Amino acid sequence: MFVHPRTFEVIVVGGGHAGVEAALASARMGVDTLMLALNMDTIGQMSCNPAIGGLAKGHLAREIDAMGGEMGINTDRSGLHFRMLNLSKGPSVRAPRAQCDKKAYQFRMKWICERQPHLTLIQGEVHRVLHRERRVYGVETRMGAQYHAPTVVLTTGTFLRGLMHIGTDRSSGGRSGESAVSGLSGSLGEMGLELGRLKTGTPPRLLRKSIDFSVLEAQPGDEPPPRFSYWTDPVFHVEHSSGSSSILERLGRQMPCHVSSTTPETGRLIEENLHLSPMYNGRVESAGPRYCPSIEDKVVRFPDRKTHRIFLEPEGIETDEYYMNGFSTCLPYELQIRLVRTVRGCENAEILRPAYAVEYDFVLPVQLDASLEARECPGLFLAGQINGTSGYEEAAAQGLMAGINAARRVRQEDPLILGRNEAYIGVLIDDLVTKGTTEPYRMFTSRAEYRLLLRQDNADSRLCPVAHRAGVLDRTRFEIFQRKEEAIRKELARLESIRHNGQSLAQRLRRPDVHYDQLDRRDRSLPSEVVEQVEIALKYEGYITRQEEEVRRFHRLESLRIPSGIDYALIRGLSNEAREKLQQVRPGTLGQASRISGVSPSDVGLLMVIMKRDRNPLDRDVPRGTRERLPRA
Ligand code: FAD
Repeated sequence: MFVHPRTFEVIVVGGGHAGVEAALASARMGVDTLMLALNMDTIGQMSCNPAIGGLAKGHLAREIDAMGGEMGINTDRSGLHFRMLNLSKGPSVRAPRAQCDKKAYQFRMKWICERQPHLTLIQGEVHRVLHRERRVYGVETRMGAQYHAPTVVLTTGTFLRGLMHIGTDRSSGGRSGESAVSGLSGSLGEMGLELGRLKTGTPPRLLRKSIDFSVLEAQPGDEPPPRFSYWTDPVFHVEHSSGSSSILERLGRQMPCHVSSTTPETGRLIEENLHLSPMYNGRVESAGPRYCPSIEDKVVRFPDRKTHRIFLEPEGIETDEYYMNGFSTCLPYELQIRLVRTVRGCENAEILRPAYAVEYDFVLPVQLDASLEARECPGLFLAGQINGTSGYEEAAAQGLMAGINAARRVRQEDPLILGRNEAYIGVLIDDLVTKGTTEPYRMFTSRAEYRLLLRQDNADSRLCPVAHRAGVLDRTRFEIFQRKEEAIRKELARLESIRHNGQSLAQRLRRPDVHYDQLDRRDRSLPSEVVEQVEIALKYEGYITRQEEEVRRFHRLESLRIPSGIDYALIRGLSNEAREKLQQVRPGTLGQASRISGVSPSDVGLLMVIMKRDRNPLDRDVPRGTRERLPRA
């Protein structure tokens, strides 16, 4: 055994999307941070499709960017195909999506971590969390090296007892070509954490020259390419030796994706061979992502559909590898070869990497507080796929918050918790710690109650002030944000003040058929993102005001804090299910209690009555002896 001579303040285990954002956030707050990862070459690796964004995920990526995270800029620098989805629909459901150069994304992320002050990177496999009576003080690697710190953020993704499946072939691994991690699950179990098992899968990768693009529909990127980052100033875009060029600058254009489809023959082959799929013959029992179904699932679930859409997407500008989006499977390899060749344009396709599924351990997230700290293990934070989510953006969002909160714990500050009315990040974390999950959780716009307030275009005005106060958003960025807010405010005032035929320009612009560029007295020097905010503020004013009113109502329950010492077992009148769930989740507020499945409005009403009757103020923890004073109703 060897103890590393340096003591750190935060240790982040894992260098995936959660790990990177966690480590950067805590280091950017000036806290001495160590990132330990299995393999330095895979920092920021995109295990599945090298794509960022899409509906709701694009919102998360923009929020991460507004909070000072790296995902947005990294996507803008490494993207090769950009689109704004749902442009014809309302602003709350529009979302950016980018196909990235897989290696460029990964290499730049590693480089950003390497040059980040207060961040140390060391390669190693953590197999034990060190603790005294569950109070964390560091980690130990498989070769016996100990690293000490008062807080640890675990972001181990799909690696815990990872088991990969292709047909009947099973092998231990966290993802293709990488070993699984065996010791850590046991260590977490010893600390009293309950673990579950989930599954995810990935499609085959094809070789470009074997695809017949002439029969496929090309899907060009949008022009100008919609960007993920609010920080478009080149000062934030420095690159290493290659100069300052992004992938798009190097390419001089966007690379197209292509749309294809399966054929009736695909469905027939799958139906005939379903018994060979580990998911259908009982070899894989854990739940997979319902909203990202395998091709077997699609054929079984939608028997009336004769074809399914498939997207062929490039993985980079210096590789000819193509991602077969929509064709994830774990059928046997020899069958995959035949199946792929039933897809339009893929009649002669060569598989570079077969599809596979992976099963892994995750930690039931209801054991965490909204700060992402394990309730019974002070100092232990968890983020990313280990909490039962699926997706880079979901992982990065949690990583960012866990990194911030680990750093705040070190500084003995209260945790930073984003509300459901403030951010998709808040919705994500609240859902996880309140409702838990039994299948890989991914974000959807429908999960958010206040969609019109949580738009991808206004993530900066919602979150930059919070992030700046927390110390993760630097002054330069914050000043850029403030200038933009000021420009929006001034333009709204100007439009209200200019009147023509008794009507202000603002009133004109409120009409759905009038656009800013149709106004005679528009300000031609205004940046497009300012114009966008001005138009949305005026056109959706009524809806936005109504939603803000709903948020105020929501705040009433949300601000009623439940004393942490409360013993639900002593409260008669609660349903058994509510008592059990409340005891397990230990909600921080009445608002959170009301969202736990199995806790009814009458249970919440009872809690409210009890809390009112109790003399203790609601916003303070109840001192010892509360149990005795709780009514035996
Ligand atoms: P990861 O990106 O997995 O990173 C984990 C990191 O932890 C790695 O750096 C690893 O080296 C490190 N690590 C693990 N254990 C240790 C240890 N003991 N000590 C030190 N370091 C350790 N997402 C989707 O949205 N849709 C999909 O269809 C989809 N399919 C997928 C298919 C496959 C086969 C896989 C593997 C992933 C898929 N994903 C999919 C998920 C996506 O890749 C993850 O959601 C995302 O990468 C999770 O990020 P993370 O940071 O939590 O974990």
